[in-house]
Amino acid sequence: MKFRGPLNNFIMRRIEVSDALALLMADGQKPVRVLLGSGGIATEERRTLYRSLVSEHFSKTPEVVFVPFASDDHSGYTSRMQDFLGASSQRLIGLHESRSPKDTISRASAIYVGGGNSFLLAKELQERGLIGPIRDRVLSGARYLGVSAGANICCPSIMTTNDMPIVYPNSLDSLGILPFQINPHYYPGKIIFREGEDFMDHFGETRARRISEFHRFNDIPVLGLWEGSFIFWDGISGRLSGKATAFRKDEEPVLHTDGFRFDKSLLSMNE
Ligand code: ASP
Repeated sequence: MKFRGPLNNFIMRRIEVSDALALLMADGQKPVRVLLGSGGIATEERRTLYRSLVSEHFSKTPEVVFVPFASDDHSGYTSRMQDFLGASSQRLIGLHESRSPKDTISRASAIYVGGGNSFLLAKELQERGLIGPIRDRVLSGARYLGVSAGANICCPSIMTTNDMPIVYPNSLDSLGILPFQINPHYYPGKIIFREGEDFMDHFGETRARRISEFHRFNDIPVLGLWEGSFIFWDGISGRLSGKATAFRKDEEPVLHTDGFRFDKSLLSMNE
């Protein structure tokens, strides 16, 4: 894969991390276990799916380290997520409460990075020196759950977030655990909005258009993850629950549905 543009050096580094991981796995080492969601968990059906995927993903881990740094209300966000998961779920330990967050991460067997603003999340993780420790922990087998900004930060960079840069992180560097990009909350087509009784065309840029702009300068594939959808990534292959649109440079986008299995190029591994 070739990369162009000034920001691609760090993308290259992140892809090398993923490729090295694939080699380790081929050698029989531990696979990664990453569950990523788009968000939009707004209906009862979606909440049920979220709870069942999360409890299955974390079934062997009664405690999960929760990373609330995409929000500026760390305690409130942690307790809201605990309530949302339900009474019988795993206990969330807010990382903001730890005196030594790096040690907490190094001992964690499960890590959950919540959503909010991706630039804020990147800045907080970079300034607290947590990018490397989280990546190392997940690459050595800790289970990772990331929703929305927590999915963005798992990618080689946060360049395909929908968020505004409300703060300046040191760089767009992120965890680089996934070998492709995610665009969460993806929707196809254009925006139609309601004004009184009328439905109006917004005439703005579509998501597909923004992703095609990303692909003018970058080759790495982008998965547009629809609301309420999840992917599970094991370091070599992914599995989709819900809907996602795969964008590969210079190719037409392709819509995928439940059960789609794919490789790091977002190409099908289904028989
Ligand atoms: N703001 C989103 C979130 O909920 C992330 C995004 O849209 O890129 O975390």
